[in-house]
Amino acid sequence: MLDNLTQRLAKVVKTMRGEARLTESNTAEMLREVRMALLEADVALPAVRELIARVKEKALGEDVIGSLTPGQALVGVVQKELASVIGADLGENASELNFATQPPAIILMAGLQGAGKTTTVGKLALYLREKKKKKVLTVSADVYRPAAIGQLETVTAQAGADFFPTTINDKPVDIALAALDWAKKHHHEVLIIDTAGRLGIDEAMMQEIAAVHAAVKPIETLFVVDAMLGQDAVNTAKAFNDALPLTGVVLTKLDGDSRGGAALSVRHVTGKPIKFAGVSEKLDGLEAFDATRMANRILG
Ligand code: GDP
Repeated sequence: MLDNLTQRLAKVVKTMRGEARLTESNTAEMLREVRMALLEADVALPAVRELIARVKEKALGEDVIGSLTPGQALVGVVQKELASVIGADLGENASELNFATQPPAIILMAGLQGAGKTTTVGKLALYLREKKKKKVLTVSADVYRPAAIGQLETVTAQAGADFFPTTINDKPVDIALAALDWAKKHHHEVLIIDTAGRLGIDEAMMQEIAAVHAAVKPIETLFVVDAMLGQDAVNTAKAFNDALPLTGVVLTKLDGDSRGGAALSVRHVTGKPIKFAGVSEKLDGLEAFDATRMANRILG
């Protein structure tokens, strides 16, 4: 088991009892521990550096009085800064989906294969139907894997939403436009478009999803990323963020045992709000993202 940050810092602050302020010299060793803790949680290095700089700026000169130890004073600063960078600063509505458009509100899902896109479509369909009382249509623009289309049909039925059937002979842009037409005619309030995911980033895939985006102009474009990805999450997030105007992120598989450092890395790279967290394989395993809880989890 990894020590949590408080335990780690307790080990290095024994020598500085009685000091009343956090200073450059008495925090240097503690900041090294903070850095190690973040790297062990798989946060990407540039994101770690930026956070440490923020913590330093906030912590230096801070009174220790009121905290039991300087370590606790610093942990408090780290927790607060981490939570605010991950999204606590964005306010309570940051994880709300935007419906301020002529119906249907279109949600485009992007991400690598295996990230959890199709599962998340099912989860969103259930959430939107049950919690937001929306009439939802789903469609798969994954013309490479017939099984993916079948999987979407299954989760859509489980969610009690409507499914627009497609075949692998159709073109992604045509699929998206036909589904939009159908949704308008049948008064669906939300259309969720699942897209193909490849195992790695490739140019053709990015052009294809960008073309779907240009054709239907979704109000939400959600990047779905596996929290277990660790450092690799950064490159993937950067590629999708460069190719598409993302409006938010869904971090999946947070029920696994990763510390979830990807949350900070992905925020750092995209600057987009993490709107939801996937917490199980089941369709009710979707939660509004909670930045403060995530910060505590990353720090252990
Ligand atoms: P896609 O290729 O991006 O559409 O990914 P899928 O939706 O097919 O998901 C890939 C695998 O991850 C499946 O086995 C899902 O059951 C699983 N999965 C998706 N989201 C979660 C999650 O939040 N928690 C867990 N434990 N598994 C998930």
